[in-house]
Amino acid sequence: MGDTVNSQGTSGRGHAVVIGAGIVGLCCGTYLQRDGWQVTWIDPRGPGEGCSYGNAGQRSDSTFLPLATPGILKRVPGMLMDPMGPLTIRWAYLLNLAPWLLRFVASATPEKVEAFMRDFGAMIAHARKCYEPIVADAGLADLIRPRGALEVFETKAAFDNIQTSVKMRQRHGVPLNVVGPEEIRQIEPALSGNFAGGIHRTDMDTVINPLKHSQRIAELAAKRGGRFVRGEARRIEAKGGGKSTVHTDGAPLDADLVVVAAGALSKKFAAQAGARVPLDTERGYHAMLPNPGVELRIPVKSAEGGFYMTPMELGLRIAGTDELASVHAPPDYRRVDPMIKRAKRLVPGLNTEGAVPWMGMRPSLPDSKPVVGPAPNTPGVMLAFGHDHYGLTLGAVTGKAIADLVAGRKTDFDVTPFRANRF
Ligand SMILES: Cc1cc2nc3c(=O)[nH]c(=O)nc-3n(C[C@H](O)[C@H](O)[C@H](O)COP(=O)(O)OP(=O)(O)OC[C@H]3O[C@@H](n4cnc5c(N)ncnc54)[C@H](O)[C@@H]3O)c2cc1C
Repeated sequence: MGDTVNSQGTSGRGHAVVIGAGIVGLCCGTYLQRDGWQVTWIDPRGPGEGCSYGNAGQRSDSTFLPLATPGILKRVPGMLMDPMGPLTIRWAYLLNLAPWLLRFVASATPEKVEAFMRDFGAMIAHARKCYEPIVADAGLADLIRPRGALEVFETKAAFDNIQTSVKMRQRHGVPLNVVGPEEIRQIEPALSGNFAGGIHRTDMDTVINPLKHSQRIAELAAKRGGRFVRGEARRIEAKGGGKSTVHTDGAPLDADLVVVAAGALSKKFAAQAGARVPLDTERGYHAMLPNPGVELRIPVKSAEGGFYMTPMELGLRIAGTDELASVHAPPDYRRVDPMIKRAKRLVPGLNTEGAVPWMGMRPSLPDSKPVVGPAPNTPGVMLAFGHDHYGLTLGAVTGKAIADLVAGRKTDFDVTPFRANRF
């Protein structure tokens, strides 16, 4: 903790270039602006139009389990055999993915899972608190609904399987209630089915329009003098003394500080700044139902389907699943069909007409933790990517940590476990 990356000392003023205007890059730049930095974002898309566009909108302050838990190896053959399953690996990309998969499987020991829950828990504990100034200044309050969330299990096997993780999460202070079929129906009367059980979380909230949420942060940033350049960053050239030039498909950008926040496409920039990170992607899908015809009171997660049904401003979003297929694979929109089918079964009367499919690339490291901190060998470059399933939740806490590190302030949580050189 307490690293300084900028040659100009703790006042931290100068020109910062943020590569990527997803929720993570937006929050990093916004926090830097509060410290007096002049910030330019570069992104070929509009703010929040990458992975941050299509998430399930869920936020909390409590720790989660990593994706790789003991027993994951036994699931790999199933992941390969069922291309439409909730967690799948595309054969064609198996060779590309092998190094990531090996590390992923190696992360699945009880000790590493325990350490993940502790370290990740220390970070996520500050997630919503760090959003507070952004929510106030950008006027985001009307986009956030404190509704809780409900996870339902249709089979006894799946429900029995989760019991160990329930105990682990409770031990780490996660506020969850195990509920039976009758309570499920009381919490969400729109559901139907013979549920084996469920998990009710009252602490979670929902961002009901993730795109608008990002866009309003960008509007705030622009009011504070921020500049948004539509273009692609190509290369970071370190100039010494903490200064760099970001070469782009347009004019080069000189910077006193560069923040790499290009989501799933951050790997090459990290490498240019001396950090070899096994970043890849867990691709997720959604189907947006513009006229669902049924109103859910609470976001509902299907445990077996691996997706959320989140009531949002523009309809019901069925979002989730996990496809390991690298950043180069084209989307396979057939993957939304099993989600829609199961959603119709869980919510009778659901109107799925006009469903709009979408695919997004979660930026993922095999140990399920993001990289947050200085590039190991290049002063003046900060890394902020790899937020996997929790980037919406962790945007602001990441942004504040980056600004704190740049200014030489103590960070809210220990960033050591999130450094790039852990690999
Ligand atoms: C189906 C699904 C459901 C999810 N549900 C949740 C949820 O409920 N809660 C939660 O917290 N998280 C959730 N997530 C995860 C969350 O959406 C991501 O972790 C988050 O959006 C990552 O943000 P980011 O800013 O790192 O990446 P992105 O939003 O992808 O932003 C990165 C930006 O970098 C830009 N970029 C890439 N290359 C370059 C380049 N060369 N030059 C310039 N710019 C570049 C891209 O265009 C993009 O705009 C979900 C994800 C998916 C797919």
